[in-house]
Amino acid sequence: MPEKELKDFDIADVVPTRHPLKIDDTTLRDGEQTAGVVFANEEKIRIAKLLDTVGVDQIEVGIPAMGGDEKETIKKIAGMGLRASVLGWNRAVKEDIQHSIDCGVDAVAISIAVSEIHILTKLKKDRQWVLDSISKAVDFAKKHDLYVSVNAEDGSRAELDYLIEFGNNAKEAGADRLRFCDTIGVLDPFETFRVIKHLRQEVDIEIEMHTHNDFGMATANALAGVKAGATWVNTTVNGLGERAGNAALEEVVMALKYIGAVDLGYKTEMFRELSEYVAQASARNVPIWKAIVGTNVFAHESGIHADGVLKNPKTYEVFSPEEVGLARQLVVGKHSGSHSVAAKFREYGIELTPEQSQAILAEVRRTSVQLKRALFDKELMYIYKDYLERTEGKQL
Ligand code: MN
Repeated sequence: MPEKELKDFDIADVVPTRHPLKIDDTTLRDGEQTAGVVFANEEKIRIAKLLDTVGVDQIEVGIPAMGGDEKETIKKIAGMGLRASVLGWNRAVKEDIQHSIDCGVDAVAISIAVSEIHILTKLKKDRQWVLDSISKAVDFAKKHDLYVSVNAEDGSRAELDYLIEFGNNAKEAGADRLRFCDTIGVLDPFETFRVIKHLRQEVDIEIEMHTHNDFGMATANALAGVKAGATWVNTTVNGLGERAGNAALEEVVMALKYIGAVDLGYKTEMFRELSEYVAQASARNVPIWKAIVGTNVFAHESGIHADGVLKNPKTYEVFSPEEVGLARQLVVGKHSGSHSVAAKFREYGIELTPEQSQAILAEVRRTSVQLKRALFDKELMYIYKDYLERTEGKQL
């Protein structure tokens, strides 16, 4: 690839210095909208506190217009004196926004659909009605001194010229940013980059990425948007969210740091704790292979990998496990090599000779195939004991 082209994709060049990159986390809104997920009031409060401590810039707390517990909890969170901005989600109607105002939030998302299929078949309105509704709603919110994000729902399937008109209309009405929503997750990073770059050129407003994971590209698309000039990313812990979920907070932050060279300065060492808390509160287990926070992300078994990591962790790890609140594990099983076996026994204070390591390894592999899993410490000790009895007749 020519040098010029590579430079075009250098994230450090396109993140505008006048707008430092920010994160608006929606675990408490889109995350809770996941089919079957309900957070208890105390859990919403606890998650908001954790997100604030981790360092997110804005917390999308929920939908005040739902009233009841939702509204009461949002009011509590807005009154907690968090460092982060607190944002309530609204439809583009004054009544919804009034509920947000009642809660004392400092920011609102005002959402309306912008694709033909949504405007015609869901709203049963036309494009002009959408523009007018947004103008009125934004005007109302700005009169109440709120920070306003205008959400272009299903923006990825909207006609681009209309999306530009919608963005300019929102800007004229006084909106502070435009949330570009890939509501059903149909973009790929290349198309995302193209659309957001174009949008940035045609509309003078900050752009936020709201991406869904239906094709497994939520995080990639969020980053592509950032590369194209978006300055906000909407995330959820564990990627929780409707259907296949949203861009995961922990993935976006760590990818920005290690792939994009943008360090947001978050307390990333809390990511595993936050992930576990949200997993428990949402009753959605985090797979052990989940990027960034899965328990297996720093587990090494295969002989070549474990040997490399023992010599220098950087051979097979991009960053250290402590950075996200995890620990490195050397797993001994079918794919282990003799170096891992020797290292494992060293942890128990036993120094094996190379011959002993080889002999024990053979037994480890045989047992592991039989059990169809890696071995526990106790099982390794049994193998060692049997080996000594066999070879030296020595009783332990
Ligand atoms: Mn969504």
